[in-house]
Amino acid sequence: MFKNNGKKTAISIASTACLCLLLVVLIFQNHRFELTEGNTETDATVVSAPVDDVLDNKKGFSAYITKLTRGRREVEKPSRAADTRRDSPAEDITASDIFIAVKTTKKFHQSRLNLLLDTWISRNMQQTYIFTDGEDEELKKRIGSHAINTNCSAAHSRQALSCKMAVEYDKFIESNKKWFCHVDDDNYVNVRTLVKHLSQYTHTQDMYIGKPSLDRPIEATERLGDNKMKPVNFWFATGGAGFCVSHGLALKMSPWASGGHFINTAEKIRLPDDCTIGYIIESVLGVPLTRSNLFHSHLENLQQVSRPDIHKQITLSYGMFENKSNIINLKGVFSVEDDPSRFKSVHCLLHPDTPWCPPLVAF
Ligand code: UDP
Ligand code: MN
Repeated sequence: MFKNNGKKTAISIASTACLCLLLVVLIFQNHRFELTEGNTETDATVVSAPVDDVLDNKKGFSAYITKLTRGRREVEKPSRAADTRRDSPAEDITASDIFIAVKTTKKFHQSRLNLLLDTWISRNMQQTYIFTDGEDEELKKRIGSHAINTNCSAAHSRQALSCKMAVEYDKFIESNKKWFCHVDDDNYVNVRTLVKHLSQYTHTQDMYIGKPSLDRPIEATERLGDNKMKPVNFWFATGGAGFCVSHGLALKMSPWASGGHFINTAEKIRLPDDCTIGYIIESVLGVPLTRSNLFHSHLENLQQVSRPDIHKQITLSYGMFENKSNIINLKGVFSVEDDPSRFKSVHCLLHPDTPWCPPLVAF
């Protein structure tokens, strides 16, 4: 009798164990899918938050399961978006649905900003906002109330840059637009491709899109209260290449980003503004960065952007890299002397009808 019962118990324990194992395997497979789903434009496998981190951060197995369940739900949405990508966009948006924030400083109004105002901003005045640190009557004449004096310090300090990002965030929320995109004053934005790219998603989804400048997650230390520190790892999109955040996700960032909170959050991890955005989104909210190779900063070799692909890029940049000028390789209608950034040539390539572009020569 005892023996029989023992046998039965052993069988039932074994079958329960098998069932649990099957469940764990199924969940794990879904999780692996979640970790790679956003990575549609690169071969690199991006792990937004390693499993160990999830366990550390969210305390225990039940939090892990919650995260996986949420992950599965998230996976279903992009796959729908991926299907629609071929036929029609996930959401029909126009340029006016995007809030483009350009970060600048008074000393670059002449040397950098005017070039942008003459090129891509001239066609996108309605959705572009300039965040600077000083009054400039000339700038106001050109773009009116879209020139925003943040009253932040003009220093290149972490605090000053976070101060500007905080104002950018608040103005975006105020605008009620569908997408927040941030760029530096050495970026060219091809708004047409930006609109096309963002239409693959819906603005109510949690989306954080850009390109990291590091090949691994940044390792930072979060300062908790009472002198305690906690190591955190997360990916962030480099501000110098530009990045975008959906309205839905931006709203969730509010407790760490709105009002004075952004500066406090940046101080907690003692990292610059773009890293702080990554920290809030990936580390705090658990939303992975969706990588796009269509965003470019001058921290990468810009010669690698191939000529036939220039019109497909979302952002371009120019600058110095290892003491050499780092610009895209475009023969273009202007010489490098007349157009050192190549932005004028790019603009004439994309918009040959621009009055100051030389007339097209038929070959
Ligand atoms: N910037 C700023 N205040 C400064 C210096 C720079 O707001 O005192 C802005 C600048 O206008 C640009 C961004 O910060 O949009 C990055 O600056 P930069 O391109 O000079 O440096 P990078 O970080 O790209 O090497
Ligand atoms: Mn730069």
